Amino acid sequence: MPATTVDHWIAGRSVAGQAHRDITSPATGEVVTRVAEGGPAEVDTAVEAAAAAADGWRWFVTAERGRILHRISAAIRANADDLAALESAETGKPPATAAAEVEGAAAYFEFYAGLVNLPQGDILDVRPDQHVYTRREPFGVVGVITPWNLPINQAARAVAPALAAGNVVVAKPSESTSATTVELARLASECGLPDGVFNVVTGSGSVVGSAIVKHPGVKKVAFTGSVPVGQQIGAIAAERVIPLTLELGGKSANVVFADADLETAAKAAVKAFTTNSGQVCSSGTRLLVQRGVADDLLDRVSGIVKALEAGRDYGPLITKGQYEIVRGFLDSAAERDVPEAGAAEESYPNEDGYWIAPRIYRAGNDDPLAREEIFGPVLTVVEFDDEEEALRLANDSVYGLVGAVWTRDISRALRFAERMNAGQVAVNSWVTGAVETPFGGSGLSGYGREKGIEALNHYGQLKCVIVQL
Ligand code: NAP
Ligand code: MG
Repeated sequence: MPATTVDHWIAGRSVAGQAHRDITSPATGEVVTRVAEGGPAEVDTAVEAAAAAADGWRWFVTAERGRILHRISAAIRANADDLAALESAETGKPPATAAAEVEGAAAYFEFYAGLVNLPQGDILDVRPDQHVYTRREPFGVVGVITPWNLPINQAARAVAPALAAGNVVVAKPSESTSATTVELARLASECGLPDGVFNVVTGSGSVVGSAIVKHPGVKKVAFTGSVPVGQQIGAIAAERVIPLTLELGGKSANVVFADADLETAAKAAVKAFTTNSGQVCSSGTRLLVQRGVADDLLDRVSGIVKALEAGRDYGPLITKGQYEIVRGFLDSAAERDVPEAGAAEESYPNEDGYWIAPRIYRAGNDDPLAREEIFGPVLTVVEFDDEEEALRLANDSVYGLVGAVWTRDISRALRFAERMNAGQVAVNSWVTGAVETPFGGSGLSGYGREKGIEALNHYGQLKCVIVQL
């Protein structure tokens, strides 16, 4: 496949970059795209275009705003094969994973298209001579900075509710995976989204991303990515006094009690840490298992993992840098003699990709394997004796994004779900991630909520109007 050129999308048209960077497939090492290297000048142009479009979009007939978002959802579905191919080319992910991700992007636009008319305020009964009401209003220009693990999906997760709430957007995808976000913006323009409402500037995080966060025209930022960059952005947002949504990943616990359906739990546990090769913020990377059934559950888990095939069930790591980070964890585990408890075969479609076969370790909850977000297909199994210990271990993490508990005891399931330090908890399943479910964390996992009706509250601010009668 010849390399595709990816340029900025500003004010409803493609804007050629001054220079381009070659992006190689992590599966094959081939150059697949050439991405425009933007800078502060392109960010200025995009923010100006967005600001010029802001009033028009904010005061658009609401139902018409919804119709356009519906058309974008339909366009994503109509172009799903091309979008998935583009996503696979840059990320190396298997076709089925890319297809699911693209379908998720369509679902976000569909869901938020249906919510544009949602009642957005209350009438407050204050005094007989006053009519008092609240309404939610958009911020204006929202900066959206997304990572490389689920590129079009994460873009849609932020852009769809931001637009539904009447904001305009300047987005910056990760430089390694910009193609589908630019294509999404192009399709949105084709669907009748007014020029300037959704702009994309491509380029590096430290240049383009940071220029967006610092730009005085940007009134809110939604960021998904690493803790250190989230902290840097947080410091700038604090100084500028603008709101921020931070989604920074986790070290999520999947807790299995002895009375659980072990076969179902084993299948889910494997999906939880191997989907997208573990490069998912909500991966279930800590498997906490009750001592009496630990060997039984592990036999089942490792049996499933052994049969996983590179290129079909999992893809490569995204970049050489990420590959080396994950390898570093494995090398250090070997040096510390952490016992391995199973792995997929190290047989890969080629030698040029950043492949790492999924593997399982048994370790204590204090081991780096149980504490750090590896962002690779690595599962750490920790044993516990009783419910109290399980809860202590589950919550003994600097993160708090998602979690799951497996038990046939409904009281224990609810006790656990309510005490687990996580924004989303699944009972007898792994976290599904449907667009309707509010999502976000506590601790170093970040703050604010994405997805669901709740996300709309983070893309608007409340005004109270007091009318003297
Ligand atoms: P990252 O550097 O935080 O990248 C996330 C996004 O922020 C990308 O678009 C990146 O652009 C941009 N960015 C980088 N530096 C920036 C800055 N100074 N100002 C504004 N934007 C900036 O994450 P990473 O280095 O790709 O991944 C490192 C680790 O982060 C992973 O190992 C994983 O632990 C975590 N992570 C979490 C998630 C999640 O879903 N929560 C996703 C990805 C990674 P460029 O990529 O173009 O530099
Ligand atoms: Mg980075």
